[in-house]
Amino acid sequence: MSNFISIQELENTKSKYMSVKFHDYIEGLDLIQPLDVELEVKSMGEFVEISGNVKGIVKLVCDFCLKEFEYKLDFDINEMFAKNSLLDSYGQEIELKGDQFVTDLCGEDKIDICDLLYQSVILNIPNQKVCGINCNRGSFASEEELTDPRLEVFKNLDINPK
Ligand SMILES: [Zn+2]
Repeated sequence: MSNFISIQELENTKSKYMSVKFHDYIEGLDLIQPLDVELEVKSMGEFVEISGNVKGIVKLVCDFCLKEFEYKLDFDINEMFAKNSLLDSYGQEIELKGDQFVTDLCGEDKIDICDLLYQSVILNIPNQKVCGINCNRGSFASEEELTDPRLEVFKNLDINPK
């Protein structure tokens, strides 16, 4: 399995279209299981469009209680790449419309799938990482000191079995 999309290979297909499956870990991401990715790669003249879906589970550290938790990834990708350096004067990335960007391949013949997925995952992780709605924000009390409010009710109950 190649981790690169070859532009030449894409151009050589009759339909100018390739389907790419990726099922692997990515360096720099604390993945609990391999990413599950299906991408459609289309050649559109000067541009290559990559779209598809990314699924996976990444391990994050909560910003509030510093506990590790699992964050489910499930998002869509839609990226445009310029084959030739026609965007020289705009730098590496220019904004097309909304949040779609064009990445300049600077004449490179291949697109690094790992790099693309790494960037996409980083962008899809929330800025504020919270382990869950029950996060014990800012408090570092140990597990034993925590009481379940649902159990608290029973303390005041006078149970008289008949
Ligand atoms: Zn937390």
